[in-house]
Amino acid sequence: MQIKICDIPREGLNVSYEQAPGGFSESPFIMEGPIRVELGLTKHNDQEVLIQGSISANFSCECSRCLGKFTEPIASHFVADYVPLSKMPKGQAHELLSGDLDLHFYHGDAIQVDELIRSYLYLSAPMRPLCTDGCLGLCFQCGANLNEETCPCPKTSSNRMEDRVQGF
Ligand SMILES: [Zn+2]
Ligand SMILES: [Zn+2]
Repeated sequence: MQIKICDIPREGLNVSYEQAPGGFSESPFIMEGPIRVELGLTKHNDQEVLIQGSISANFSCECSRCLGKFTEPIASHFVADYVPLSKMPKGQAHELLSGDLDLHFYHGDAIQVDELIRSYLYLSAPMRPLCTDGCLGLCFQCGANLNEETCPCPKTSSNRMEDRVQGF
C-alpha cells in the first residue's frame, strides 16, 4: 500500500483495509488470515505527515514449551511521523534517526506503509509463545506432552524440556 501525499486533504485521511498476509509471513512469523490495518493520516504542513495506525492480525504460533500449534491474536497501535527524505539536510539524517525512532522518511511523493506495518507487526509478535500460561511442556526423557498425559518417568523439578535447555 502506498499513499500519495497529494491525496491527503487538509482535514486528514482515514484509510482502512485488509492485507493478505502473503508478503509479511516469514517463519517464524506466520499469519493466519488477513492483516487488518487502520491508518489516520494528518498533514502538519504540505510535506510532513503524521500517521496514527492500528494493526491486528492472528499469528500462527508454536508453543515454546510443548511445540503445540495455536493462534495468537495481536493488536498494535503506533504513531509515526513522516518527512520527505529530500528535505533532510545532508549529515543530519543520522542524528535525527537516532534521536527519534518514530521519525520516518519517504521518497518522492508517496509514503510506502508496508515496511512500517511489517516492523510493527514483528514488534508485536510473541517472542516466546505459550499455548497457555500453565503449559506443562514436554517430558525431556520420553517426549510425552505433559498437558495430555502423565508419563512414567521419575518426576524432578527439571523434568521439563524447557528447564533442561535453559540449564545448558
Ligand atoms: Zn504449550
Ligand atoms: Zn516421560
